[in-house]
Amino acid sequence: MLEDKSPQLTPVSELGEFGLIKHLTKRFSLQQPSSILGIGDDAALLSAEGREIAITTDILAEGVHFNLGYAPLKHLGYKAVVANLSDIAAMNAVPAQILVGIAASNRFPVEAFEELYEGIEHACKHYGVDVVGGDTTSSHSGLVISITAIGYGEKESLTKRSGAQPNDLLVLTGDLGGAYMGLQVLEREHSVFLVNPNMQPEMEGYDYILQRQLKPEARTDIRAKLQELGIQPTAMIDVSDGLASEILHLADQSKIGFRLYEEKIPMDELTIMTADEFNLNPSIAALSGGEDYELLMTIAPSDYDKIKNHPDFTIIGHATEASEGCYLVLRGSNELSKLTAQGWDAFLNKKGKED
Ligand code: ADP
Ligand code: MG
Repeated sequence: MLEDKSPQLTPVSELGEFGLIKHLTKRFSLQQPSSILGIGDDAALLSAEGREIAITTDILAEGVHFNLGYAPLKHLGYKAVVANLSDIAAMNAVPAQILVGIAASNRFPVEAFEELYEGIEHACKHYGVDVVGGDTTSSHSGLVISITAIGYGEKESLTKRSGAQPNDLLVLTGDLGGAYMGLQVLEREHSVFLVNPNMQPEMEGYDYILQRQLKPEARTDIRAKLQELGIQPTAMIDVSDGLASEILHLADQSKIGFRLYEEKIPMDELTIMTADEFNLNPSIAALSGGEDYELLMTIAPSDYDKIKNHPDFTIIGHATEASEGCYLVLRGSNELSKLTAQGWDAFLNKKGKED
C-alpha cells in the first residue's frame, strides 16, 4: 500500500540512520520549562522542581495493535502518543515529555516515517508535550512503535489505583464503546475491500466512532476540572482495555468490590445504533471493547453534590467491601452478573456474594 502512493519514495538507506533521525526530529522544538535538554545528546535532561515524576511506556506492534490496511500512519502516530498521555492523565499528572522508539523494516520509505512523525508532532502540539529523545532501528518484520511519556504532579494530588474505599462513588468521564464499534466498521469495510478492491468503503455517518478508534484523545483536561470542583479522586485508571477489566484492576489494587449499573454506562447514540447494526449488545462494546481512553475514578461519597450534574462526569456505580465482589447490576432488573475481565458472566450469581 505504501509503495503505490507516489513514484518518488525515498529509501531510508539514502539518508542513513542518523540522517533519518535528524530529518524526522528537526520539526520539534522544546515548549516545556521542565525540558532542559532535548534530542541530540546521549540522554535528555529534565527538571522536576519538587514535583513527583510519572513515567510510563507502551509498545504498539503492527498486526497486534494496529493494521496499516486501515490505520493511516499519521493517525497511528497521534494515537500512539495519546495512549501514553492517557496513562499520565490517569495518575492525575500533567504530561510534559515523550521519547519515541521506532523499529521498521526497509519496506518503510522515509515518507512513511514522515507521515508517522506528522501525527506525533500534531499530538505534541495539541497536548503541549516535547519529544526529548528516542531510538531508531530496523526490524525484520513489521513496524513497532514504543513511546515513553513523562509527566509531573504534586505528591498530594497524584492518584493511584489503590486508594479506593468501600462506598466511594465510581465515576467515568465521557462515553464508552465508540472505539470498539469504530473498529468493527473499519474491519468490515477492510474485508470487503480485500475481496473486491473496487468497492468503495461505506464510512459515511460513522464519523464519531471512527474518530474514537482512529484518532482518540487523552483526557488531560480532567485534572483541571477536578481541581476546579475541589475533588481529589481516591483512585484512578484510564479505560484502555474495556470498563470491566479496569474496574477489576481498581478492585484488586484497592482491595474492595464494586457494583456497576449497566443502565448508567454512558454511550453515544451512534455507538448504540452501530452495535444494533452488528447485532451486538452495546454494553459489550463498553465493558470489553477498550481504546476509549476515558478516565475511571473513585471519589468520596461526600463529593456527590460537586459532580452530580456535571456534563463531563457520570456516576456509574459504587465501591463495596471486597467480600461482596465485583458485579454488574443488569439493566431493567436488579439481577447481578459477575464482572469478568472479558465483560461479565452470563451465568448469574443472584446473591451477589463471592463463593
Ligand atoms: P545513541 O547512539 O546515544 O543512542 P542515537 O543516535 O540513537 O544516539 O540518537 C541520537 C539522538 O536522537 C538522541 O538524542 C536520541 O534520543 C534521539 N533519537 C533517536 N531516535 C529518535 C526517534 N525515533 N525520535 C526522536 N528522537 C530520536
Ligand atoms: Mg540510540
